Amino acid sequence: MKEYRMNKRTESNPKGNNEVHASDCRHYNQLTDYVPLGYHSSCFSAVRKAKSLGYPNADGCKVCSPACHTE
Ligand SMILES: [Zn+2]
Repeated sequence: MKEYRMNKRTESNPKGNNEVHASDCRHYNQLTDYVPLGYHSSCFSAVRKAKSLGYPNADGCKVCSPACHTE
């Protein structure tokens, strides 16, 4: 299980997606404006959780969650 956070800021993402990061990602501790998603066994459920919270453009970070990165 890893803890996940979703970046609320989208200006650094070319597609305007909300990137979802795992706690072992180098970006994780750099997020200043984020939604905590709790612990998940995979990025898939973390992204699903983010979408359920009202962020349909949530997408896995290509660094830490490439399996969930769609763009
Ligand atoms: Zn990441």
